[in-house]
This record gives sequence, C-alpha cells and structure tokens, in this order.
Amino acid sequence: GVYRALEETLGFYGIIAIAWVGSLVADLVINKPLGLSPPHIEFKRAHLYDINPVGVGAMITASVVGITCHTGILGSYAEALSHFIALATALATAPLIAWRTDGRFYTARPFTPIATDQELVQCCICEHRFEPEDVTGCPVYEGTICSLCCSLDARCGDACKPGAGYREQLQQFLGKLVPDAILSRLHSRLGHFLTLLVLINGLSALLLSLIYFKTPVASEPEALLLSITLWKVFFILVIVTGIVCWLFVLAHESRVVAEEESFRQTRLLTEEIVAHERTDLALQQAKEQAEAANGAKSRYLTGISHELRSPLNAILGYAQLMENDETVPPHRQEALGVIRRSGEYLADLIEGLLDISKIEAGRLDLHRDQVRIELLMEQLVTMFRLQAEEKGLAFDYHCPYPLPEMVTTDEKRLRQILINLLSNAIKYTDKGGVSLSLRYRSQVAEFTVQDTGEGISPTNIERIFRPFERIRTPGQSRIGTGLGLTITRLLTEIMGGDISVESKLGQGSTFKVSLMLSSVHSASPRSISAPAKRIYGYHGSRRKVLLVDDDQSHRQVVRAMLSPLGFEITDIGNALEVLPTVADQRPDLVLLDVSMPGQTGWEVLQRLRAEKHGMPVVMVSADANEGQHAKDSPRLHDGYIIKPVRLNLLLDTIGQVLNLEWRFKKSAEPLAAIPVSDNGDLPLPALPHRLELADLARIGHRKGLLEALHGLKHRGEAAEQFTLELTQLTNDFQFEKILALLEVTEDEPS
Ligand code: ADP
Repeated sequence: GVYRALEETLGFYGIIAIAWVGSLVADLVINKPLGLSPPHIEFKRAHLYDINPVGVGAMITASVVGITCHTGILGSYAEALSHFIALATALATAPLIAWRTDGRFYTARPFTPIATDQELVQCCICEHRFEPEDVTGCPVYEGTICSLCCSLDARCGDACKPGAGYREQLQQFLGKLVPDAILSRLHSRLGHFLTLLVLINGLSALLLSLIYFKTPVASEPEALLLSITLWKVFFILVIVTGIVCWLFVLAHESRVVAEEESFRQTRLLTEEIVAHERTDLALQQAKEQAEAANGAKSRYLTGISHELRSPLNAILGYAQLMENDETVPPHRQEALGVIRRSGEYLADLIEGLLDISKIEAGRLDLHRDQVRIELLMEQLVTMFRLQAEEKGLAFDYHCPYPLPEMVTTDEKRLRQILINLLSNAIKYTDKGGVSLSLRYRSQVAEFTVQDTGEGISPTNIERIFRPFERIRTPGQSRIGTGLGLTITRLLTEIMGGDISVESKLGQGSTFKVSLMLSSVHSASPRSISAPAKRIYGYHGSRRKVLLVDDDQSHRQVVRAMLSPLGFEITDIGNALEVLPTVADQRPDLVLLDVSMPGQTGWEVLQRLRAEKHGMPVVMVSADANEGQHAKDSPRLHDGYIIKPVRLNLLLDTIGQVLNLEWRFKKSAEPLAAIPVSDNGDLPLPALPHRLELADLARIGHRKGLLEALHGLKHRGEAAEQFTLELTQLTNDFQFEKILALLEVTEDEPS
C-alpha cells in the first residue's frame, strides 16, 4: 500500500503546488500585461506588504477548490481533473483579486530611486558596496541599507512601511469581517491564545481527518479503532498544543514588552545624545566667549599698562629728582620717598601682570639661546652674594657635577626664574643663610634655592603660587606684589620644567626647579652670554658701517656700541635714502631695520641686490618671527638680529660677515674711561660702582639696579644726570643700552 499512499499524498500536495505555481504564472503572465500589477518586480522587504492578497488569495482559493474536487464530493470527473481545476481557479482568481484590490498590495511605499552619481552604493550596516537597485533608504538607520541587512533586521519594526506588516494586514482584513467588539476581545491575551489554539488544532484536525479518510481499512471495527485512535491523538495534541500555545503567547508578550523597553531606552539614549550635542555646542560657544573675553582682557591689560607706564615714569623720575633737591624741606622729602616707592611698586605690578597675561594668552615666545651656563651662574652668585652679605646672611653655591660649556635655553626667562627665587630667599630670611645649588645630569638641570628664613606653613604652600597671594606675618612689612612666584611657575611650566617647594615654618624653605637644558658642544656664533674676553677693536683697515633705522634712539645705541671699536658709522632714518647713500659712500656693511615707513627693510634689500651692491647686509628687527620672512625666496641677507640688540651677538655677527679678527682686552687690566660719541658728556661714577651696575644690568635685575642707583644718588657717589638717565633706561628695561653706556666708558685698549 506504500505506492498508493504515496500517490494519494502526492496527488494532494500536487494540488497545493499547482495552485501556488498557477498564482505565480497568473501574476506574471496575465496581471502584468493587463497592467493589474506594477511593471517591475519588486523584491525588497522594505517595499513589500507581508501578505499580498493577490498571490495568497489565489493560491488559497485554488487549493481549497482543488482539494474539494480531489475528495470526490463534486463527482468523479471533478476528482479526476482536480489539478486542472486548481490551476484554472488560480489563473482566474489572481487577476480578479488584483483588479478588485486595484493592485495596491504590490508595493508598500512609492519607489524612490537612490540619488547617487556612483556605480556602487555603500550599505550603512555591513558597509559593503552594492548596485543602487539592491539598496534602499532606511528611516531607522538613516542611511542606505542593502536587501540582506534589511531582511535580517529585527528591531526596526518596519518603520519604513507602516500598515504593511502581517499583523496590521490581518487586523484590517478581520476588521472587515468581524464586528469591532469581538475583534477587541480577540486582541487580548486570551484571544490570542484561543485563536492560536483553534488554528493549530484545526490544522491538526484537518491532517488527522485526512489520515482517517485516506487510510484504507478492511472492516468496520478496524475503521472504528482508527477513528478512536485518531480522536485520542487529537485530544492529546489539544492538551500539548494548549500548553505550548500558552507558553508561546506569554513568550510573545514578554518579547513585545522587552522590545518596547528597548525602544524606549534607545529613544532616551538618542534624546540624551541630542541633549549632549546641544550642551557641547553651548560649551563650545561659552569657551569661545571666554577666550574672546580673555583676549580682550589681555589687549586691555597691554594697552592700559602702556598707558600707565609713561606717566609712571614721569612720576618716578620727578620723585627722585625732587628727593635729591636740597631746597625741598625734609618733611616733604619723606613724602617724596613714599611716592617713589609706591611708583616702583606699581611699575613692578604692571610688569608682573603683563608677563602673566602674555603667558596665559600663549603669546610668550621662548627663544633658543645658547647660554654659557657657568658664566650665568657666576654672575648670579656674585650679585646675590653681595645682597646677602649686605643683609648679614651667608651665601653658598654648590655645583657638584661638571657643567657643559653651553646649554640651549631662553636665557632671559631662566634668569627671571632664578632671580625671583633668589631674591625671595634673601627677602624672607633675616638670619642664617641662603644657598644655591645646581645639579646637572643627563641634560637636566636641577636648581635648588634653600634658605633658613621664616618658612611657609603647609596650608599656605599652594597659595603662594597664586597671583597676589602674600603671606603676611604680624610685625613684618615686606614689600612684594605677590606675582613673582606665579610668573616663576608659569615660566617653568612653559619651558617644560617643574617647580616644587618644601618648607617648614620658622626653619626655612627649599625651592627646586628642574629644567631640560640640552648641552651644546661646539661654541656657535649665536652664543649670547658675555664672551670670555672683551673686544676693544679689530685688526685691519677701518670699516664703514651704514646704519638704517627710523628709530633715533636705536641708532644712538648702536652707534655707541660700534664707534668705540673703530667703525666709521653713518646713520640714516629714511629707507628711501639708502640707495643713494650706498652708491655714494660704498659702506662695508649695512645694518638694516626691517619695519620702516615707506619701504620695509626687505624691499630695500631687494633693491640693493638688484643694483648689484654685494656688501654684507644684516637685518635688525623687533620681531623674532620675521627671520622666516624669505624662507622660500633666495636668501639675500647675511645675518638677522633681534631687537633689543645685544652687543655680543651684534659683534659676533659683524665679525663673521666682515671676516674680522678682533682685538681683545686683557681682562685683569684696570680700565680707564674714554668718552665716546653721543654719551661722552654723561658724568660717570667711579669704576667700582659702574662695574656693580654693569653686573646688575647684565643679569637683567631691574630692582637691584634701581636700588643701586638710588643708593649711589643718596650717598652722592653719582651725578644726578647719570642716575636719572640710568633709572629711565632701567624702567624701560633697556639693559643693553645701560651696558653700552657703562661698557664704552670702561674699556680701554691694552
Ligand atoms: P612677592 O612679590 O610678595 O615676594 P611672590 O609671588 O614672589 O611675591 O611670593 C609670594 C609669597 O610667598 C610671598 O609674599 C611670601 O609670603 C612667600 N614666599 C615666597 N618665597 C618665600 C621664601 N623663600 N620664604 C618664605 N616665604 C616665601
């Protein structure tokens, strides 16, 4: 009976298969030409209804009709032709349903071509590239998605085609057949359970009855036994499917709840991201505003300090002048002293604030100077030993390891750091001593400034580095702006170093500064610390130097620096006069300012070279960056010097470009003054005082210079004109000019 059973089963499935194929054929061969379905075949999930009633309806109708005929209810002809009848039904119903539904269930959303000018489009999930027909726009992922990723996605909830899911479709379909009251009950948990139970058990009943009808039985009792067995199987299946359906409904519900929760969390997360973006934007704007405000503050500070400094110079100058005036009664002299000290305090404050604002605004340029570190330390030690001794304090200097000849660092800033620490140590120590030590190992220098002074309590340690913080102890009145350590720390940090402090109240403090000072082995001409020997002239014929600068004071300084050494100086302030002067005088060297009205130094240089003047030209500029001016054009100049001009660097450069052999003074020889050029008639104090002042000016110790000048004036050891001039220059930080003034009168050919 196996063959018969097979024949029966295949005959039965054949009807379903033919109904399916018939519907497909009808759809493609009849519906399309008739225009009942769209001309192209859509296959992407994102564009399709889950159930298309045309195919599904035609197939179900054809299957039902075919099976009915197959059972023989409609006679033996119908039974014999059941497959053909199923095929004919499918071919007839498919166009009918398509016509009835207006073909609207073929595509769930209008076809919009992907706007791209490229051959392949990338999927936003798998990131593979596909032809435009294989991708579609996805509103959930907000990008183009390929068919495969779209088909596999389970969390999108078909947001791209609302109403096209099978649940909505079934609901819509049932809504037309079943009253609303029943429909809402069906949509409950129990409704779902019962529907599922009826569907599954209906299907099993169908299958069991098929088995019953298609099983050949020989006798009546056999048929009864079969029927009882199948009924028993059915009821057992009802119990099993009942439990399974209930579990399924519960699992489905918890899945729905979990999905809803996950959607809710995703939405909250998305909202948070949007909120973060807004906050970020607000933060960015606030930061920009703060930066703009900071920039405005810095500009304001720079402007106001400039405005304050000029009248302050006048106040200070006159206060000093009047302090020395014997016609001023003594009780007014005291008041003048107060005015002077207050003026000095204000000047310090302005300098400090300017430095801080410069550092904070990132406008502080660090220079890479080559510094003779040993010489620098010697100068500082000499200076501060003197100050310490004046106060009755001991001063020690240790340097346990050998120092390299030269190191690379910003000399001015390094000095500023050490001067701040050393002057604090001396200022805040009344008995005992101050020691300075330098340990140089593996390119790192560790400066330690130790004192046995009043110390700082642990609670105040961090405070002292803040601006305007001064630790006041009752009964002591020390003058200080409270900016020194703030600047010291900022400078150390921007130089890539580190500062630390240890202190015990009443026992003293130790400040340590570590800086990377890379050593330089070969002495290069850019060394700016004082050369070991002093130059007083050069071998060979007299050289002519043409000095071009619109600033008269600069011309005076350079003239004062060079003419004592035997140079013949011609200076002009107008850039337009350079060419005729050069043609007329044929100088050996031109020192050319960069920024001048009318024509810049670079333009003058170009014209000089264009007219075939080949003498060396050294550019002089206040802008450290302008040296990069002619990076990509051919280099026409022979040297570049930054203002304020340092004598040693100027001489090094001149010596190099003119190939000079310098004449050096024997350093031990006593010096006598020779009056020089513009400054020749300035009455000078005795040599030891000038040496002291020169030492102070060399290390840039403004306060020290002012005090020394004040002392000289009070003791009557220097002429008023001299102290006044030097005070002015000190206040303008013109240390090089001061050195020039003092040096030209010190040196004498040996
Ligand atoms: P000031 O101009 O007041 O010296 P600083 O910023 O240099 O400003 O120092 C801030 C404060 O730190 C000082 O007012 C002082 O109280 C304290 N201080 C600094 N150095 C020392 C030191 N070596 N010993 C004791 N206290 C110190």
